[in-house]
Amino acid sequence: MTAFALLPHAENGRVPNYVGGEFSPAQGGEWLADEDPARAKRLAEVPRSRAVDVEAAAEAAGSARRGAWGRASVEERADLLDAVADAIEARLEEFALLESLDTGKPVSLARSVDIPRAVANFRFFAGAVRHQSTDCHAMETALNYTLRRPVGTFGLITPWNLPLYLLSWKTAPALAMGNAVVAKPSEMTPLTAAALAEVFAGLDAPAGCFNLVHGLGPEVGQAIVEHPAIGGISFTGGTATGKAVAATAAPMFKKLSLELGGKNPSVVFADCDLEAAVPGVLRAAFANQGQVCLCGSRVLVERGVFDEFTAAFVEAARAMRPGDPQAAGTSFGALVSAAHRDKVEGYARLAEEEGGEVLCGGKRPDLGGELAAGAFFEPTVVRGLAPTSRCATEEIFGPVVTLHPFEDEAEALAIANGVRYGLAASVWTRDLSRAHRFSEALESGMVWVNTWLLRDLRVPFGGMKDSGVGREGGRHSLEFFSESRNICIQL
Ligand code: NAD
Repeated sequence: MTAFALLPHAENGRVPNYVGGEFSPAQGGEWLADEDPARAKRLAEVPRSRAVDVEAAAEAAGSARRGAWGRASVEERADLLDAVADAIEARLEEFALLESLDTGKPVSLARSVDIPRAVANFRFFAGAVRHQSTDCHAMETALNYTLRRPVGTFGLITPWNLPLYLLSWKTAPALAMGNAVVAKPSEMTPLTAAALAEVFAGLDAPAGCFNLVHGLGPEVGQAIVEHPAIGGISFTGGTATGKAVAATAAPMFKKLSLELGGKNPSVVFADCDLEAAVPGVLRAAFANQGQVCLCGSRVLVERGVFDEFTAAFVEAARAMRPGDPQAAGTSFGALVSAAHRDKVEGYARLAEEEGGEVLCGGKRPDLGGELAAGAFFEPTVVRGLAPTSRCATEEIFGPVVTLHPFEDEAEALAIANGVRYGLAASVWTRDLSRAHRFSEALESGMVWVNTWLLRDLRVPFGGMKDSGVGREGGRHSLEFFSESRNICIQL
């Protein structure tokens, strides 16, 4: 099986843009290299698009809205999303392999999480828009009803850690509500987005409803954010980039959703079920090599069980061996790039300089052969750092976690809330009152109790503080990707 069978419009490894229903290179004819991070080998090239390509995509999106796509009924839009879901699911193995090659994540993870969740996102929003209702507020002398109409064209900008999954999370509700989209995936992981464009083409979707332009953030991403005909931006990525996006989009009064970075706490109380907490906190720490925005990279443990927890946690972390992402038994793959691995490694060195003790990992594994130059890094656990140290407060976005003991609930809360981020948290306790009390006091958009990353697509997803602005998910997405208009009729 070759995953590149999903990309029939790629010629000589060059994967085109998809604009107005046509596959094309960037108008300037420039290309960017895309690497397999596990083998440090070129996988493909993608167009280095510029403002002129965004102009063409925005025009195509506008004519789609004035044409067949603008006239599509809710049922037709939902049918298209269901057809996209079916088409991805029919080739799930190829999608999983392509995602694994592009990101370095284990193919087993792409097969069990990334791709099935992308399928679920398309199906979920097809159902959600079919069953959507509208508000009606009755007065004694008048009736208000609220319509939801498309905003127009949305720019969708996504990161490299969950490429198809996050793109589908935005594309599905944007199209469900009748918008057209101009999507830009991360230049480091563009291939499943390109395969999604092939799916739209294969379904004869109305030309211009889904446009894809590849390229660099400060070039094509910035051009999307700046474009006056693109009325809304849904951005997922780093906090610094989000700030730049907001600085451009906010004065243009664009609808804006920002899903940004995190430095999430996993809080382990002495009364928890340790047998469940150790594997649960381990998964939260190291899923996708620690490259999930929701990963719990600060592990706070009540003093009474600190040593016991630490011993079991470190033993389990040591057992996670990095390996070939495409091999069947691998559960821990490569990081997304050598440059990112170097950044993560820099934090492991910094942890030592800051007085931390590296209990396991902290170095590159020696995998040899074709993986010798791959962007691998061992799962790393650090003890003894101050909760205010740089390693314990800055987003590392890799397999490096810090362990911190706490005396009581008040201290746990102060440490948990003592960072600029507020995306997600997990709390491990058998005390239900404490679970409620503590979860509510956490400055966090999402809290899991005795679990992590258990997702219901209806719930609000997003962060507080520097982790973002706005919520997506279920009706929150349908609301974000539409404009509500109230009509008041005097009776
Ligand atoms: P990034 O901010 O570097 O890039 C994200 C996207 O923005 C990429 O497509 C990039 O090309 C583009 N971009 C870069 N500069 C731009 C600009 N000036 N204008 C417009 N677009 C621009 O992030 P990354 O390194 O790809 O991803 C990792 C980050 O994403 C981490 O901080 C992680 O926490 C965050 N993330 C957040 C969530 C969430 O839901 N909150 C989910 C996944 C990842």
